[in-house]
Amino acid sequence: MKKSDLKRFKKTLEAKREDVLQRAKETIEEDMTLDSNELPDEMDLASTEYMQSFTFRLRGRDRTFLKKIEKALKKIEDGEFGTCVECDEPISAKRLEARPEAELCIRCKEDQERAEKDFAD
Ligand SMILES: [Zn+2]
Repeated sequence: MKKSDLKRFKKTLEAKREDVLQRAKETIEEDMTLDSNELPDEMDLASTEYMQSFTFRLRGRDRTFLKKIEKALKKIEDGEFGTCVECDEPISAKRLEARPEAELCIRCKEDQERAEKDFAD
């Protein structure tokens, strides 16, 4: 993969990560507003400890997504980006364009979905 492509994917991934974190922050701030009557006055909402715990409060889906993004970013660092974790084949550029955080090539992804469907049935 070309260096310029990697750079572009990295940027996209970082922007996505920013989005998830921003959304999570807003959710928590909403929670805090709702709860604020029950909180002691002296509680420091912006305390470091509180901010550290905030990633644990991400909703399940966001957390999974965030993990995938982190993994993809790590792969860019390690020079392994764009390779399917299942079959080691390159993931198509078209698929990466749409979902740079994808870990599986389209064929493995379809296999996985079929397996999940079979399981559900
Ligand atoms: Zn594959």
